[in-house]
Amino acid sequence: MGKHSLGVTLRVATAWLMIAAAAAAAPAEKTIGKTNFGRAGEQTVDLYTLTNVHGVEVRIMTYGAALVSLKTPDRAGRLQNIILGFDSLQPYLAGVPYFGATVGRYANRIAKGRFTLDGKSYQLTVNDGPNTLHGGPKGFDKRVWEAQPSQARQGQELLLTYVSAAGEEGFPGKLTAHTLYRLTDDDTLVIEYSATTTAPTPVNLANHAYFNLTGDPHNSILQHQLTIPASRFTPVDATLIPTGELRSVAGTPFDFRTSHAVGARIGADDEQLRLGRGYDHNWVLDGPAGGEPRLAAVLTDPGSGRSVEVRTTQPGVQFYSGNFLDGKPAGGGTVFGYRTALCLETQHFPDSPNQAAFPDTILRPGQRYSQTTVLSFRVIK
Ligand code: BGC
Repeated sequence: MGKHSLGVTLRVATAWLMIAAAAAAAPAEKTIGKTNFGRAGEQTVDLYTLTNVHGVEVRIMTYGAALVSLKTPDRAGRLQNIILGFDSLQPYLAGVPYFGATVGRYANRIAKGRFTLDGKSYQLTVNDGPNTLHGGPKGFDKRVWEAQPSQARQGQELLLTYVSAAGEEGFPGKLTAHTLYRLTDDDTLVIEYSATTTAPTPVNLANHAYFNLTGDPHNSILQHQLTIPASRFTPVDATLIPTGELRSVAGTPFDFRTSHAVGARIGADDEQLRLGRGYDHNWVLDGPAGGEPRLAAVLTDPGSGRSVEVRTTQPGVQFYSGNFLDGKPAGGGTVFGYRTALCLETQHFPDSPNQAAFPDTILRPGQRYSQTTVLSFRVIK
């Protein structure tokens, strides 16, 4: 049994795997493991480990339907964890800024936690200055989700389900939300979100992984190269609420249409960079949303050779350069320093329920919310 196979519940040896095993140096086993990760109040939290034939390994916990670690090879084939996370539940319970989590019911901010829907006003719980951030103080990242592992033809899957009661954090309608993670043998992690509701409600689900492709969270991410195929972004006010403008990135530090080092322009004299304390903005992805997942970002670490390609059906991506990671111990003695990780949160635009010109985020009974984001792990020479 491989070291990642603790408490194995499922295992496959497909014909493909057997052929590959005969042809090449022993590949890793395709497995889904399950262990107990502790308790959140009365609820048991489980940790699932999905591994593919190349040894790419993703660990997911049922608390927050969160990615706990993600091991991918560097150019020498060395597997290392490329996201921030902990080996125990305790630091998550003590409070970390959404490490790896599924954020919802509404990812990012809603101004003053207020919106009007079908003529009725709603007040959400606020938790970020005057605003509601990532669903409120007890968002989807702090809930225990039900998990269902399975071996699908396309890869190892984990389906997580959370039922959010009507009125939770002020949102209308009982929302049944699913996050499906699928690890495939072509080194891709597919994340599919779906949801249904009993009453009209805003919905915006996103993954909040913090990447550091060097494999060592002590390193800065300022040398990472980033491409975002977006001609416009949504500038913000002092509380990081979009002003409503879709501003051209041309001639600004927000132009990532060609690859730039994250740190190359982060200190530029720019009002939006000052407001965000760096990058903390939503980019408006070029081309139509909602069809096949299209390119949202390419993040590359020239040192290790690791590269992550992000595709999505969503209209936007929040590039957050870890400006609020402040170097204080975050639990278990681990310290996450300033700008030692960055997030690429594929999403609908912040504050859409208050911005009539932004793509609609209202889900109604009888409709199905459905979004897909695909992370492909590659190596450059
Ligand atoms: C937000 C940041 C926030 C971070 C974690 C991001 O999605 O845009 O402003 O600090 O999440 O809290």
